[in-house]
Amino acid sequence: MSRIEHLPQEVREKIAAGEVIERPLSVVKELVENSIDAGAARISVSLSQGGKSWIVVEDDGRGIPFEDLPMAVLRYATSKIKSLDDLFNIRSLGFRGEALASIGAVSRMEIRSRFEGDDVGGLILCEGGEVLACHRIPRQLGTTVRVEELFYNLPARRKFLRAAAAETRRISQFIQEMSLVWHDRWFTLTSDGRRILDRRPVGSKREAAQALWGCEPREGRMEMDGIRCVTLWSGHGDGRGGMVIFVNQRRVWDTNIRAAIQGASGSARGDWVVFIDLPPEDVDVNVHPTKGEVRFKRPRDIFSVVYGAVQSAVGIVTMAGRSRVEA
Ligand code: ADP
Ligand code: MG
Repeated sequence: MSRIEHLPQEVREKIAAGEVIERPLSVVKELVENSIDAGAARISVSLSQGGKSWIVVEDDGRGIPFEDLPMAVLRYATSKIKSLDDLFNIRSLGFRGEALASIGAVSRMEIRSRFEGDDVGGLILCEGGEVLACHRIPRQLGTTVRVEELFYNLPARRKFLRAAAAETRRISQFIQEMSLVWHDRWFTLTSDGRRILDRRPVGSKREAAQALWGCEPREGRMEMDGIRCVTLWSGHGDGRGGMVIFVNQRRVWDTNIRAAIQGASGSARGDWVVFIDLPPEDVDVNVHPTKGEVRFKRPRDIFSVVYGAVQSAVGIVTMAGRSRVEA
């Protein structure tokens, strides 16, 4: 047995980064979420070799002030929350201030940005968690983040990455999902020089789902005590039976909600997208570093509302499933 010692800073950084950044998709997710939080109307993602060689996310959002660039790449540094109270009233996708620090710790990352209030832009270059350069540059409004050689300094994790095509598929799936909930934004995905997705802004979630599925979705709705649920169903059985769930515009994975969809849809096969909106204080999004899981204050009510909304999409008219669920 040896004595207890503090881990060196470098090791701590990599452990923390590993919780947030698992694969190229994690980088794309974090960067696209930042673009959305920055109010971008246009978000373009480009990849080389499924993101294993490089990833570029460019947006026309409000940008990062030059003076803030060195802060942006520090852990637990964020412009989105200020206090513990804010943690229970999250209105942005990001809030932990870890993504850029984590990406910067396990890659070569370059951020170019111009803030809406500034005349010139700035550039910051990080490699393995070190800032190598930070200076002013001319550029248009918005932000471009370029991430090269992900996990170059974490070979064990690099080995776990799949073939480029498989990594690209995950990213493409993610962007298609984002285009459903952020249907008023314009997303493109370019892979090895080829434009593989071009999701133009549309007027509603329903239109976005129609663009994705190639058919008119069936819609169900239910609202109860401040919880609102809209469900879209492809209405045909040749889908993969996918269930995509958003809570306050955040993509989440939740077995309770899946069970509600499964239970209420019965033999009605097809793909589902479920949008749940509720007061931010009724949902805890700070469960996991990747924010893919949430905790509800009233999980039974969530179940009932989703159940009812799904039933109304497939055409079952009941007392919104409540009595059934609690029976
Ligand atoms: P978080 O999103 O949790 O705040 P990040 O590490 O992802 O943490 O980003 C740190 C900060 O950098 C953000 O709070 C934001 O102020 C700024 N930032 C990051 N990406 C962008 C972007 N694309 N546009 C404008 N600001 C950004
Ligand atoms: Mg973020």
